[in-house]
Amino acid sequence: KQKEVQTEKVYNTQCPYCSMQCKMQLIEQSVVSRKQYKTVGKENPTTQGRLCVKGMNAYQHAFNKERLKYPMLKVNGEFVRISWEQALERIKAQFTRIQEEDGLNALAVYGSASITNEEAYLLGKFARVALKTKYIDYNGRLCMSAAASAASQTFGMDRGFTNSLAEIPNTRCIILAGTNIAECQPTIMPYFEKAKENGAFIIVIDPRETATTKLADLHLKLRPGTDAALANGLLKVIVEENYSNEAFIQERAHGFHEVKEYLASVELREIEAITGVSINEIQKAAIKFGKEETGMIFTARGVEQQTDGSAAVRNLLNLLVATGKLGKPNCGFGAITGQGNGQGAREHGQKADQLPGYRSIENKEHRKFVADVWGIDPDDLPGKGVSAYEIMEKIDEGEITGLFLMCSNPVVSNPNAHFVKNALKKLKFLVAVDLFVSETAKLADLILPTSSYLEDEGTMTNVEGRVTLREASCPCPGEVKHDWQIIVEIARALGKEKYFSFSSAEEIFNELRLASRGGIADYYGITYERLRKEGGILWPCPDLEHKGTLRLFETSFAHPDGKAKMVVVPNKPVVPKEEVNSEFPLYLTTGRVMSHYLTGVQTRRSPALAARNIESYMEIHPATAMDYQIADHSLVKIDSRRGSITVRSKYSETIRPDTVFVPFHWADSQNVNVLIGGELDPVCRMPGFKLSAVKVSPVNDV
Ligand code: SF4
Repeated sequence: KQKEVQTEKVYNTQCPYCSMQCKMQLIEQSVVSRKQYKTVGKENPTTQGRLCVKGMNAYQHAFNKERLKYPMLKVNGEFVRISWEQALERIKAQFTRIQEEDGLNALAVYGSASITNEEAYLLGKFARVALKTKYIDYNGRLCMSAAASAASQTFGMDRGFTNSLAEIPNTRCIILAGTNIAECQPTIMPYFEKAKENGAFIIVIDPRETATTKLADLHLKLRPGTDAALANGLLKVIVEENYSNEAFIQERAHGFHEVKEYLASVELREIEAITGVSINEIQKAAIKFGKEETGMIFTARGVEQQTDGSAAVRNLLNLLVATGKLGKPNCGFGAITGQGNGQGAREHGQKADQLPGYRSIENKEHRKFVADVWGIDPDDLPGKGVSAYEIMEKIDEGEITGLFLMCSNPVVSNPNAHFVKNALKKLKFLVAVDLFVSETAKLADLILPTSSYLEDEGTMTNVEGRVTLREASCPCPGEVKHDWQIIVEIARALGKEKYFSFSSAEEIFNELRLASRGGIADYYGITYERLRKEGGILWPCPDLEHKGTLRLFETSFAHPDGKAKMVVVPNKPVVPKEEVNSEFPLYLTTGRVMSHYLTGVQTRRSPALAARNIESYMEIHPATAMDYQIADHSLVKIDSRRGSITVRSKYSETIRPDTVFVPFHWADSQNVNVLIGGELDPVCRMPGFKLSAVKVSPVNDV
């Protein structure tokens, strides 16, 4: 029998997880002696009220009893509660000591793409102005940096989507490369389903069959890590079959001649041998994409998390430029970001080489512009630092001895995870800001409790490049503070109050608007008031009357001469990829499952989500499994050159027999990133998460 609902409370909020940033309402009902919750989607321009299972259960981590509520200091190996005053004093003393002993750059800052734009902006300013260190980077480096650098190089700017999502249903041919949107961003799927209903031809490039490949008219099941070569095959057919758009290329692009020359030297037979995709399939995909009047290409981590990820994405962008499918309706590019603020967090200065508004830290004029907004001498701005994983290497080498870590879990998310864990243990002082005692926070000297999505206020920029406002819907529990408050209070403790006098997220946003003004990611025309009224605005938005930019590159690209830059991407990558051999005979690739997010710190603490996938697993073709005497659902040891893990096997008829797949949301003995190498993409410094050589063997259950 239904018990009577005594009171009802409604929280208006936005999902904390993926880049769709679905708007929703959490309804809390008090029923006799307990509370029950229900989440419903709220109408919005991006997802029209849709939600996936992660969003519906997000409240479970926010209300989890394990939430940190007070600053915790490690004393004799145990965490003990201290006051904020004591925490700030400790930070001041340790940061000052480290910089006096080891130099200004001995302190590093490691940020996140799950925090708000205001917090990402403030963290960049904090590193450069309060700490005066050049070492700041963030976990987004491990996520979408390949697509970001490819778009910046080809187009002169990087906004996740060149168009709004609303154009997808009307495009005629879609390439989804290395993306499993059905599990990772489920609420985007209806755009593609509608396109298919409208007659679009959908090509999916993926070594595995997934929930997304079910949508495909053509599935190119390539060998992991061979996307760049496959794009050469597609380009070759398009150019040689005369589907290139000569007028567009002539007027709006550089580099086509060189690309064409290179393609003439490449044989389709060679591409077939590299990728494992037949010439027939390459031709079919290329002709379909070339022939159609409109087309779009979307990439995600499958293409990007490679040591040649930026080159592979550039080659897919070559395809768009060569066919002139840019700057007009229902044509364009989309990098489907994974993290909630994957787009906004990469625009305003928490990257090693970047200042707000996508300005460059190495450009004299950019430095002066931002220094003026901040009220400092440009010469006092530190220079370019290093990428996320390279910060770990510098810690290991002893050059960095103190780390301020905000909402990230590098012990699980970085490649070569054992190495990273051991490096972090060498720090003189590690401060971790988190909701929970994550695997990395366990190593910290001091943990500071931060707010959840229900308590936060601030802007997020979704997968389209649409800036949205997430309002705080309930007060912080215990002594929890917002990330921005924590940054402000530490800066003040360090004597930098003058530069950090903020008392709200909106005040920070207003400074961000000024610092981004005239830059590539120009937010100047966006205000909280407008966001409340209009629901979301796509940048660039240079003034208060500007409506935001739905479609980019209609008349010119963002390079100074207005032209796109095509580039030759050789089949053979600059950084050699790990090859299988007799000792490590299988390819390992990694990815996500629908019910978990990133390293699982939040979703593993949501009972409804954890129950869907309680542990990690290894997908393996039954024929391959037979070769190694691995039974279905049995424990299996996976070894690479870096380490080993043990997970349960899961037979799949649809995976390539030379490849196994393991998701990356689990820690410790199930952490697949233990197996991954630390080689980096030479351009964007992305590690090669999606390809390692491994061996597998059965573990006898005891
Ligand atoms: Fe929406 Fe993504 Fe949250 Fe699912 S995880 S509800 S798709 S924002």
